[in-house]
Amino acid sequence: MLSSMKRSSLSARRAALMAFVSLTIATPGFAQRVVILTTGGTIASGASGQISGESVVEAVPQLLDHAEIRVEEFSRIGSSQMTPDHWLRLAQRVNAIFREDPELSGIVVTHGTDTMDETAFFLNLTVRDTRPVVVVGSMRTPGEISADGPANLLNAVRVATSPKAVGQGVLVVLNEDIGAARDVWKTHNRRVETFRSPELGFLGFVDPDAVVLHRSTLWPHTAATEFDVSELASLPEVEMTPDYTGSDGAMLTWLAERKPAGVVLATFAGGRISPGAREGVQTVLAAGVPIVFASRVPGGRIVGDVTGNSGALVARDLSPHKARILLMLALAITRDRQELQRILDTY
Ligand code: ASP
Repeated sequence: MLSSMKRSSLSARRAALMAFVSLTIATPGFAQRVVILTTGGTIASGASGQISGESVVEAVPQLLDHAEIRVEEFSRIGSSQMTPDHWLRLAQRVNAIFREDPELSGIVVTHGTDTMDETAFFLNLTVRDTRPVVVVGSMRTPGEISADGPANLLNAVRVATSPKAVGQGVLVVLNEDIGAARDVWKTHNRRVETFRSPELGFLGFVDPDAVVLHRSTLWPHTAATEFDVSELASLPEVEMTPDYTGSDGAMLTWLAERKPAGVVLATFAGGRISPGAREGVQTVLAAGVPIVFASRVPGGRIVGDVTGNSGALVARDLSPHKARILLMLALAITRDRQELQRILDTY
């Protein structure tokens, strides 16, 4: 069936794909099987709003050259509407899909690019399987000239079916680049080459003839983490606030009154903070709320104890957004200060 599918015309393949998509059942005959979980974003933007997951996938009949595809619409939202509740349910769904189908090659998650690095990092810490999970989106809508979504989706499926991607953690694939979920930042407001890993570089590339991996991330991920979210109904509330020139720490004082489970302070380079923020940090700590310093600067680590022995915690090289995710998962396990710092240093 696969070989006849390969020989068939594009329109026949599109019809075949539509049949798969609408039936959403597995059809025997393919060596590889991939589930595409769609969440929305620009890759799913139509003239009058978000289009269905089926429509996103049907537009790329070439997917059938690589795998049998099953599509599941998880949500139909721009990624600025994502919430920690979505992350939790998405991770639980990814784990369930892997559990239900031991022969599945991998899972592709289509997603808006604005918060893609956050969702990818959350999945990187909570998926309990070594099979590939590839997060993909696009910077241009399907209707634009040179839309990048179809090629990105095809490349994501190619990565999800590549044995080289097994055990590499959650991957972000756009613009023929393969990034590690922990490393990627969205770096450009408009261009297709927006996802980059400052300093560390990509793990590899999706070339026309092959998926090429040059390196692995050494940070523990997926099946090697201590985070089991299968029974979790919600994530602890962790707020984030930036320090800035001349801050009087009022935001931190307000957070101390609100008493979330934790706070992330986006600091200047090296974890340095303004005098106002330093006072605010004391107020947060006095309220019994753990607070994490995370640098707003993409390159390098926060070195040593920059918190003035205050009892605040430090996220070394994670972006403030990713430090928030890690703190949420850590607080779901422990409130012990040393344990929290160990977790921040481990992932
Ligand atoms: N608005 C989009 C989002 O959902 C942006 C994108 O996908 O590129 O994040």
